[in-house]
Amino acid sequence: MSAADLASFVQRLPKTETHLHLEGALPLELARRLDPVFFEKPPAYWSPDYRFTDFAQFQDQFDRYFFHWFKTPENYHESCKRVFADLVAQNVPYVEASFHLGTATVIDVPFREIAKAICAAVPPGLEFRLFLGMFRDHYAGEFVSILDEAITWDEVSGVDLHGFERPEFQPWSRDVWARVRSLGKVTKAHAGEFSPASDVRRAVEFLGVTRVQHGLGAINDPDTIQLLRERDVTLDMTPISNVKLLAVSSMCEHPIKRFLDAGVRCTISTDDPMLFGNRLTDDYVALGTEGGLDRATLVKIARNGFEVADLPASEKQRHFAMLDAIAAELD
Ligand SMILES: [Zn+2]
Repeated sequence: MSAADLASFVQRLPKTETHLHLEGALPLELARRLDPVFFEKPPAYWSPDYRFTDFAQFQDQFDRYFFHWFKTPENYHESCKRVFADLVAQNVPYVEASFHLGTATVIDVPFREIAKAICAAVPPGLEFRLFLGMFRDHYAGEFVSILDEAITWDEVSGVDLHGFERPEFQPWSRDVWARVRSLGKVTKAHAGEFSPASDVRRAVEFLGVTRVQHGLGAINDPDTIQLLRERDVTLDMTPISNVKLLAVSSMCEHPIKRFLDAGVRCTISTDDPMLFGNRLTDDYVALGTEGGLDRATLVKIARNGFEVADLPASEKQRHFAMLDAIAAELD
């Protein structure tokens, strides 16, 4: 099967995007307004063979460019509108994405206006769940009261810890994460992108999450893999991001197949498409070519996304039926 045939096969699959940072998804045409010279053409890091030297170099692009866009509700709205439309065009009817707590102190309006502006950008045909993302040491100073209030908003479906996987998860996050779950909402945490299995284990045992973003570090620890299985934890993985940030050495070394074979539920997403130049379909195609996954496994991954989606059973069933019909063609 050619890459073009695989791309059209992937396009037909109903898919979910469940690991997306809205500030890292700024469309190129809007980045161009921030710096018409630097963004005249796609930046060097969009090249497929580009590799970031380290996480700091990646983070620097946010500080230098992208966070400067996300300072008003109107700008969030404009960016999200384009991002959501492109996901719908890729046959993605369900999205979970996060916005960053750090922007709360650089805007001139109440922080909730940002959440409302994002949700108002959701087009018909897309089910969207908004998460509030923050660093592991973000619960300090003025962020304490902002976070305590934000987790109660109807617009916010859950929380996520992101950024550099340091320091260790702190007591405040265990307490807040438990509170978020008591409100009937979803808790996630980034762990195991660069950190070891022990950090993934701590996300599950200490924070109590059943949604780990990345989780790669668990692959060589059978006890942690067993824990992920026992607690029915889902790993929301991002293959192209992992390769470009050197979290894995190449696409064929990506451990997603090993996790799936071990009975751990995995999904795939784009993470920060502005930094990696990827669309969701590219991540599926990369795994289906360089990654060596067969089409039945790609269908299984798409199905996994709907299994954990916050959707009514009837809605999930509709997507499962579509995926089953496509899988049946493979037999
Ligand atoms: Zn992420």
